[in-house]
Amino acid sequence: MKNLERLPRDPFEAFVAIRSAKEGDRRRTLDEISERIRQRYTDYQNHATELADLPAAEPPFDDEQCEALSHCYKIETTPLEHLKQAILEYQSREARATCQYCGIDYPATFDHYLPRDGKLSEFSRFPEYAVHPDNILPCCYVCNRRRGTSWRKDGERTCLHLYFDNIEVKERFLIANIEFEEANVPTTHFSVETDQKVNQEFGRRYQRHVDTLRLRDRFRRQAPARLERLRADIRSLPKRREYGIDDIQTYLREMAAAQRGLLGANHWEVALLMAAAESRDFIEYCLHDEGP
Ligand SMILES: [Zn+2]
Repeated sequence: MKNLERLPRDPFEAFVAIRSAKEGDRRRTLDEISERIRQRYTDYQNHATELADLPAAEPPFDDEQCEALSHCYKIETTPLEHLKQAILEYQSREARATCQYCGIDYPATFDHYLPRDGKLSEFSRFPEYAVHPDNILPCCYVCNRRRGTSWRKDGERTCLHLYFDNIEVKERFLIANIEFEEANVPTTHFSVETDQKVNQEFGRRYQRHVDTLRLRDRFRRQAPARLERLRADIRSLPKRREYGIDDIQTYLREMAAAQRGLLGANHWEVALLMAAAESRDFIEYCLHDEGP
């Protein structure tokens, strides 16, 4: 997991551009509430690191205003298309290829961190942020569906904000464990460990993120294929027959460290590589001549 990069421009410009592509009653409605939207954009920035405390719009936007605001995102316009493109293009190669909520799938959709749905209760809907660039996060279908519209529970946010939470902590919270329950079939379990960590606040937030997106189960399903590729890598090393377990362990540790720099300390592949490096059973399984 790595942070997404925020677009280096005034977020309100996006609203202004998209508003200008509207006509008739909607355009009039958006013009009328323009100053309120500007203020709400400022509120978002002011609460960026603590969005759980962001108050709902007061008074709430009425049905007509909600409709016009949602329309800004729901209906494709050239400025909206440009905005989505700009958000994607501004990301790292890794983030353009892989959803940073999970680190598994292609980011084929955009998630609204604060839900834009006008049908929700007035305390949990934020149609005013339908086209706020910092509220639009590239992510995969599965994460988008799992997030749904419930972004806060018991006063705490359910998922990490990829622009505003510092998710590139050095501390490791995600731990993988490789076991051989059946002969020659490695199974992997993932857990989040928060005990005796320095950054407890991040740990709790990361734990909620993992639970909400059901990541442990999703990581577990990715692990067998990744381990098979790792086994193939090890078996293709030129001097494999001369290497002992300790040599492979060093190789795997170095690989894990390199991936950690690239993907972040709490990426599932990093946790898996570190578990592989510490599992003598796994290394023996890789060096063994039997099998596929
Ligand atoms: Zn995802």
